[in-house]
Amino acid sequence: MQEIRFVCPKCGQKLECELKMAGQKIQCPACKNSINVPNPYPPTAKLPRVRSNSAEQIE
Ligand SMILES: [Zn+2]
Repeated sequence: MQEIRFVCPKCGQKLECELKMAGQKIQCPACKNSINVPNPYPPTAKLPRVRSNSAEQIE
């Protein structure tokens, strides 16, 4: 399972979450700030099949 690692822009807490969470909002466990999970890859990049969004067809 690939993971995204980033830091909270507000408090600097190191965070990681699943790749499929990219672009979604999470809550920082440290400061409760709402954070947009950064997408480490461009949307057209070839990834292992990710089908979290059926409205978006990559192929
Ligand atoms: Zn934080």
